[in-house]
This record gives sequence, structure tokens and C-alpha cells, in this order.
Amino acid sequence: MINGRVIQSTGSWYQVDTGEDIIRSRLPGKFRLEEKAVTNPIAVGDYVDIEINDDGSGSITRITERTNYLTRQATHGRKGEQILVANVDQAFVIQSIRKPKLKEGFIDRFLVTCEAYDVKPGIIVNKMDLASQDDLEFFEDLEHLYSSLGYTILATSIHDETSITSLTSIIENQTSVFIGPSGVGKSSLLNAIDGDLDLQTGEISSYSNKGKHTTTFARLLQLSTGGYLVDTPGIRELGLVNIEPWELSLYFPEMVEPRKLCKFNTCTHNHEPGCGVELAYNEGKIDPGRYHSYLQMLDSL
Ligand code: GDP
Ligand code: ZN
Repeated sequence: MINGRVIQSTGSWYQVDTGEDIIRSRLPGKFRLEEKAVTNPIAVGDYVDIEINDDGSGSITRITERTNYLTRQATHGRKGEQILVANVDQAFVIQSIRKPKLKEGFIDRFLVTCEAYDVKPGIIVNKMDLASQDDLEFFEDLEHLYSSLGYTILATSIHDETSITSLTSIIENQTSVFIGPSGVGKSSLLNAIDGDLDLQTGEISSYSNKGKHTTTFARLLQLSTGGYLVDTPGIRELGLVNIEPWELSLYFPEMVEPRKLCKFNTCTHNHEPGCGVELAYNEGKIDPGRYHSYLQMLDSL
């Protein structure tokens, strides 16, 4: 029996990284029937036990309980959820200060999703070499806001080696996922961190490519600096899944205390009387931009 980690999956075969080898493994049919709630019982990122067969392939005999996982609605008209990746240490939203312009709403949606999935989030603002004086001041305000909420926020540029070194040390020996719209520099940053990845950039950027030809399964890219990066094809944004309207404010750290003062425990903080969050907002304790993001998300639920 050997322990390893699933780094790629095709649905019937799993590539299991044992630290020494990568072993093509299968899941015995009996095992497959046991878990019905999800369309894939074993996901990329899972830690598994395998037994080696006579032909050198592996049979998965046990899966270690997951610390967390990211899902999406199953594709191809199948019901239920598909687990994209399991056991993720941290997720980063990547935005650029310009080209394309940074979107705070995107950052806030990402943060809420991470809170809901129990994944540690971080914020990366790339292309800082393009920043004007106004952009720099804008970034300082962002940095102040998000770090006061307890989130890591990092300014990067592929032309600034110090920033790449900082990013490298943050993702070293971790399993991380980068989420962001196309063109913000995800592939470029990864290449700057680890040249061996050799990802395509620009028009046909290859990290988390949205192209029709790519597989729908995630994979783990091994970093030569240690650790893994999750490559999730087709995922530019994590969806807000299964969040009830009254629950949303639990995922805004600055609302957690104020909401305790609300008259109704199902308060959604947009119209109800006796609202603690509205009170905190009126006292200037909640950033207007964040409150705006909250209302927009509430609207979308
Ligand atoms: P992705 O779609 O998020 O993977 O973005 P890419 O890595 O393909 O980058 C999109 C474009 O932005 C490419 O032309 C890159 O050369 C450029 N780019 C990426 N990072 C930076 C940066 O830090 N500064 C500047 N000026 N350009 C960058
Ligand atoms: Zn309220």
C-alpha cells in the first residue's frame, strides 16, 4: 500500500503522485457506487491509498477525508455537484491595476466564496508597473481596506523581481489556486515564479484556459519550488453556491459583529428595521464599496 495525491483525472483514470512516481490508477467499481451525491467520488487534490497491480497500475483503496473542496454544478446535463479540486490551502484572486481595469466587485465575490468554502483567500494586484500616481494611491486605499479585514494583499509586476520573490514564498509548499479574468497576467506570473511551467501567455493564455477543447477536469501543476498550483479549465470565477440571503453577511468579516445587533436573525441588512449592520454603516464602520458589493451579491442570490 502506498499513499499519494491525485494530480490529474480523466474520469476513469487517475494520476497519483506518490512523491517518487506518478502512477496511473483506477477506482474499483464497488467504490464508485458508494458515493452518489457527487458525480466524481475522487477528485484532483485528494490524498489516496493505492495498491500496485501486477501490470504496474494502481487501484485506489482508500480516500483521506478532505479538509475542503471547490465545486461547480455538474456539466453535460448531469445532476448534482462536481468536485473540482480537494484540499486547497489557499486561493488568490488576480486582478490587474490596468489593462483590464481592476474590479472590486470581483474581489469581494471571490472573498465571500472562499469564506463559504473554507479556503484561505488572498488578493494579488498585478501589472503595477503600469500604475499612475492615482493608481498607486488607489492601491494604497485597497491595501488598507483589505488588510484591515484580515486579508493578504500583494502588489506584483512581472517586471519587478522583488514582488515575484514575495509571491513565490507565499505559494511555496502550498496547494494554491489562482482565479481571475483573462488578461490579468495569471500565466505570466506563474511563468515568472517557475519557468519550467512554460505556460502560454497573451491571446492564447493557457492557465485555466476557457477554450472549448480543454478538458473539464482540473489538474495540479507541480511547482519546482515545491507545492502545487490548481489549474481549473473554464473557471475564471468561483460561483456563489448554496448561500442563503440571510447567511451572506456571515462571509463579510466586518459584518459579523454588527449583525448580532439586528432585530431579526434572518435580517438581510437592506431594508429591515433595527438593523445592526445599517447602524455600523451609518457610523462609518463599514466601507461603502464593500456594502455596495454586499447589496449586489444579495441581489444575485
Ligand atoms: P492570463 O490570461 O491571466 O493568463 O494573462 P497572461 O499571462 O496571458 O497576460 C496577458 C498580457 O498581460 C500579456 O500580454 C502579458 O505579457 C501581460 N502582462 C502580464 N503580467 C504583466 C505585468 O506585470 N506587467 C505588464 N506591463 N504586463 C503584464
Ligand atoms: Zn441587519
